Amino acid sequence: REPKHWGTPEEALHATFGFNAFRGVQDDVVRRVLAGLSTLAVMPTGAGKSLTYQLPAVMLEGTCVVVSPLIALMHDQLRSARANGIRAATLTSADMDREATIEAFRAGALDLLYVAPERASQPHFRELLSRARVSLFAIDEAHCVSEWGHDFRPDYRLLRPLLDLFPEVPRLALTATADAHTRADILAQLGIPDDGLIVAGFDRPNIRYTITGRDQPVQQLKRLMADNPGPGIVYAQTRAQVERLAEQLGATGRPCLAYHAGLAPEVRAGNQAAFVASEDMVMVATIAFGMGIDKPDVRFVAHAGLPKSIEAYYQETGRAGRDGDPSVAVMLWGAEDFVRARQRLSEVDPARLPSERARLDALAALVETAGCRRAVLLRHFGESPPPACGNCDNCLEPPGVTEATVTAQKLLSAVYRTGQSFGLGHVEKVLTGLADERVVERGHDRLSVFGIVSAEEAQLIRPVARALQARGALLATEHGGLRFGADAKAILKGDIAISVVVPPRKERSRRQRGGS
Ligand code: ADP
Ligand code: ZN
Repeated sequence: REPKHWGTPEEALHATFGFNAFRGVQDDVVRRVLAGLSTLAVMPTGAGKSLTYQLPAVMLEGTCVVVSPLIALMHDQLRSARANGIRAATLTSADMDREATIEAFRAGALDLLYVAPERASQPHFRELLSRARVSLFAIDEAHCVSEWGHDFRPDYRLLRPLLDLFPEVPRLALTATADAHTRADILAQLGIPDDGLIVAGFDRPNIRYTITGRDQPVQQLKRLMADNPGPGIVYAQTRAQVERLAEQLGATGRPCLAYHAGLAPEVRAGNQAAFVASEDMVMVATIAFGMGIDKPDVRFVAHAGLPKSIEAYYQETGRAGRDGDPSVAVMLWGAEDFVRARQRLSEVDPARLPSERARLDALAALVETAGCRRAVLLRHFGESPPPACGNCDNCLEPPGVTEATVTAQKLLSAVYRTGQSFGLGHVEKVLTGLADERVVERGHDRLSVFGIVSAEEAQLIRPVARALQARGALLATEHGGLRFGADAKAILKGDIAISVVVPPRKERSRRQRGGS
């Protein structure tokens, strides 16, 4: 593989992209690839992953074959590569010019060829590769190859046999999101040596993280919008929630659009274009929104509900502040989010259950911590951050931590004695001694747990319930009641202590005035 262009990587960088310098680890990745060494590059969104294969693609003789999971992503990449004068094409079922692409590939007239993973298993594709000259295999979104990753795609497992047919062609796997376990798995699955791992720093110091209970979401989001006049994204979980929130937030007079997979493609494209062009718009969207959007001045990203994983949270919040200016990421969560997530675990393929459960526990730890959010995030990605960042809610206003094991035990006893079938509202009445009709009718006013929680301790019931649900000690019944989960008995016995995070005073009094 002789260089096509005479010159150093820096010269080629300048000539092809007009950039004066590599950013972060780009340099290391490109040098390894040019030396013919297989590499796994873990670089956060926005760190400039595409350049690490596009530049070698330009410099090396032959074509770089890029495996990418989504046609929409491929087409974004294609446009930007071509805009830089790179000879690129996609080979997908959606392309009409497949014959011409194959012709160009065979003739060595392509720098880059984007394909979907399923093509790898097609015999005629293998044959095509063996009759062309391949300079590099770039495997984008490489975490898809791992069952430990958050987005496993069985098709990615078909790549290895293909790669092994071309042992002399280096492999470059790329991902934005991979914890230590997933990284090791990607290396093994794709046959990349352990010393081929290059990890870029994950910290986004200009993003301020805030994670708080979802008490009055619309009010909370309106306050966030008032504090942040620049463009923002609000992620909601369902299409209906997106529609409703877009309307409610739009009532502030701020331009607000909706984006979800249920909208017609031209509406989606129109809304996305309007957002990219706008300086003050709020996009209310499902997580379908954001991939491949290059808008550097997003000032806030809010989650109206629990994200799918820490990886997803990091990726979604990472769309804020790509220009490096101060930006905020706010997550509003409720116990019911964890209840639903734990219910979904019961539908998961048993083989994937341990990793899915670990993923949810990691998310619960992020949400429940009284310590630095950034430290939790960065440790999750294998870094060793300082214990406090000074730019997250818990660093800026340290919350109180209250020992609440006894309250947790009272709550669990009440759940147990009322038969593990009532919701939190009912259990709370029993605990605080509120003998309404339903309580009396069931005889719950005669239970030993009736009225055992004082008015002051009652403040802790909801935070404790939230903590127990987040860690899976309390689960939901089909009818929205509470029942025991894994740790409930150990907590009752006193083997596990429970403490809850109490929000800083200012926040607390504001919430109380709101009266939820
Ligand atoms: P990723 O795929 O890692 O999310 P991209 O490859 O989309 O990131 O790059 C993010 C942005 O950074 C793009 O606008 C790209 O042009 C820009 N970029 C990448 N490398 C450099 C560089 N060395 N100097 C300046 N800008 C760069
Ligand atoms: Zn912090």
